[in-house]
Amino acid sequence: MTTAVVSPLLDTYARADVTFVEGNGSWLLDANGERYLDLVAGIAVVGLGHRHPAPLAAAHAQLDKLWHTSNLWWTEPMATLADKLSERFGGAQAFFCNSGAEAVEAAIKYARKSTRRPEIVALDNSFHGRTAGALAATGQPAKRAAFEPLLPGVRFVRPNDRASLADAVGAETACILVEPIQGEGGIRPLRSEFLERARELADIHGALLVFDEVQTGMGRTGTFFAWEQADVRPDALTLAKGLANGLPIGALLVAEGAAGAFVPGDHGSTFGGNPVAAAAACAVLETIDDELLADVARKGAWLAAALERLPGVVEVRGTGLLLGVEIDRAASSAVAACLERRLLVGSAGERTLRLTPPLTIADAELDHALRILEEVLQ
Ligand SMILES: *Cc1c(COP(=O)(O)O)cnc(C)c1O
Repeated sequence: MTTAVVSPLLDTYARADVTFVEGNGSWLLDANGERYLDLVAGIAVVGLGHRHPAPLAAAHAQLDKLWHTSNLWWTEPMATLADKLSERFGGAQAFFCNSGAEAVEAAIKYARKSTRRPEIVALDNSFHGRTAGALAATGQPAKRAAFEPLLPGVRFVRPNDRASLADAVGAETACILVEPIQGEGGIRPLRSEFLERARELADIHGALLVFDEVQTGMGRTGTFFAWEQADVRPDALTLAKGLANGLPIGALLVAEGAAGAFVPGDHGSTFGGNPVAAAAACAVLETIDDELLADVARKGAWLAAALERLPGVVEVRGTGLLLGVEIDRAASSAVAACLERRLLVGSAGERTLRLTPPLTIADAELDHALRILEEVLQ
């Protein structure tokens, strides 16, 4: 009798058969010594590139000083990070956790406590994470089905459909929860008019407008937050992915005008605001300056135009270095063909490639990627 090879991991990811051992800038090295150009960046996480000196030095220095205390006391990196985020947002208080889904959970609890209302208005095709609350607000029935019943009171609306949004928001709405650009759902931007309408409806009905910027935040779209481009300021905002360049951290920011709902005991996280992750995040915030943001916008516009000219490309969506490339075939086969050529690209949906390279990627590296994509999509 033969024994089947059993993975040491539960079967939650369709992992490709590659083991990475080292990273440097926009490149990864596998266990066989092969180099790969990385246009995934840990799914929009390693925004400054692998081993960027600023967060690396900050995390090293903090590792040598203090790893963890709990949230019963203050630590310097956490306080500094909250100040820096508040300054970027234009006045906000922070709650720190360890992932995007946890940041969304915090937002849901905050909105419910703040309004004493039960309902969440979210969008079809959205993605807010895999925990039970965040999953309940995720507008992808296939991801939810096996786990229902989930949190009740979520109403889903078609993205960019202002009339349906107006129908869904009312006296029971705690928050309107949206990603300014739907990420996992295929890199689908929301129109400014839709976001403006969401702002109006939240104000009219006394609900909170919450932007899930877990993927769009931290300079990914060419501004620090994606809301700056739509010029619609939310009452609360979630961050995670790019916040500490790869160390686990998430944050809920609540705008000054919407603050005050949580009191001690309402929410918490043992690891939240971990000094090492927070120190790395402070260095990330210092590094994402106007020059880098302008460069992200420039490279994104240039890359999108170049992608549109490739064979097999149906549509290019997104802003900055958050780009979705809809192609005329299954994304999975193109991802595999790129991997064979030592190029890492992601996917978001059946026929959409997702490109989320390090924000620091060089033009020549993008050129290299374009040549491989051209060959693959021929
Ligand atoms: C990735 C993502 C999440 C979930 O983040 P995790 O860290 O995987 O829990 C939530 N919202 C958005 C918009 C995301 O892109």
